[in-house]
Amino acid sequence: MQILVVGAGVVGLAIARAAALAGHDVTVAEATGGIGNGVSSRNSEVIHAGIYYPTGSLRARHCTHGRRMLYEFCATHGVGHNKCGKLIVATDTAELAKVEALLAQGLKNGVEGLELIGGNAARALEAELSCIGALLSPESGIVDSHGFMLALWGELEDRDGMIAFETPVERLSLAGSQWRVQFGGRDAGAVAFDAVVNAAGLGAQALARRIEGYPPDKVPRLVLAKGNYFGFAGRPVFSRLIYPTQVDGGLGVHVTVDLAGRMRFGPDVEWIPEESYTVDPRRADSFYDRIRTYWPGLPAGSLVPDYCGIRPKLTGPGEPAADFMIAGPSAHGLPQLVNLFGIESPGLTSSLSLAQEVVGYLVT
Ligand SMILES: Cc1cc2nc3c(=O)[nH]c(=O)nc-3n(C[C@H](O)[C@H](O)[C@H](O)COP(=O)(O)OP(=O)(O)OC[C@H]3O[C@@H](n4cnc5c(N)ncnc54)[C@H](O)[C@@H]3O)c2cc1C
Repeated sequence: MQILVVGAGVVGLAIARAAALAGHDVTVAEATGGIGNGVSSRNSEVIHAGIYYPTGSLRARHCTHGRRMLYEFCATHGVGHNKCGKLIVATDTAELAKVEALLAQGLKNGVEGLELIGGNAARALEAELSCIGALLSPESGIVDSHGFMLALWGELEDRDGMIAFETPVERLSLAGSQWRVQFGGRDAGAVAFDAVVNAAGLGAQALARRIEGYPPDKVPRLVLAKGNYFGFAGRPVFSRLIYPTQVDGGLGVHVTVDLAGRMRFGPDVEWIPEESYTVDPRRADSFYDRIRTYWPGLPAGSLVPDYCGIRPKLTGPGEPAADFMIAGPSAHGLPQLVNLFGIESPGLTSSLSLAQEVVGYLVT
């Protein structure tokens, strides 16, 4: 089949590669001039173990399966990664109860190697840490997300797939058994495809509304939750990922380390009405307070505004977190069309597993 994947983020690229490996003729249309210019270049680059999500949800299933696939892919394709492990820390008894609940949830989700450890054991691993207990997750890690996307693109091209850059998809309509796709951009025009996958990230809902015959009530709302990061101007003190317990809308301001060992903090949760990518330096004040609960030694003046990313959420403040939404033909009644909505964290970790499921929807 001739398949169009809309969006060259990590999810679109993983789907395009999987479709090409399955023998399809694959084109990716990307509105910007390069790969990974959307949510995929604005995240924590953490390989999540799969602890937090309700058992049986798409997020739980694709995170644990995708994580195993991702480590395997990185190892066989020379993609930089480090299974550095993670500590979810409790600084008081209320948080300890939360950490215990996370252990139970993680075990139910089939996450390997989880262990509840005491404050002294945690400090033996990370000397600067202040906590009364922690959940150790040895399967958590970090990945060079751009290197991963480059490797996916390489395999796509090896199978004769291609990416059309600066090529926004404007409209879709059914013409017989094919999708007629109207492109804008530098080579504007219309082309027919046998199947279309909408992996447009923050643009997925807008595109779904421009699909002729797509039931409007099947387009979920899009809620934007910005996550701001602050870099650390000093010598790194942690070698593992350090997470507090979760907050509404996110996993809490955590410490991530990159492959060069540098530390950064974030993301927080800032509900915003429209896309914007500036980091307000004043937000540092609340970062100091939150980080010092588990790292009292954080020096004053050491946080510098870094980047931010926007989570494409399906629910807003105070509402329960939504699952990923993979809308295939049975969800909307149109053939050979899959829309992905709400692919926020852990979308990077889940991408290879999501791709497997999506390609399964495309019937030859
Ligand atoms: C702050 C933050 C932290 C995160 N941390 C993690 C983490 O540590 N681990 C993890 O696993 N996940 C994490 N995630 C989630 C992860 O980054 C995303 O799930 C993933 O990157 C989504 O990829 P995507 O391909 O769906 O979207 P994107 O990367 O946004 O790709 C969509 C692409 O579609 C293009 N596009 C849009 N509309 C059109 C159109 N009409 N025509 C053509 N192209 C179009 C866009 O230009 C874009 O390139 C985080 C997310 C955020 C925001």
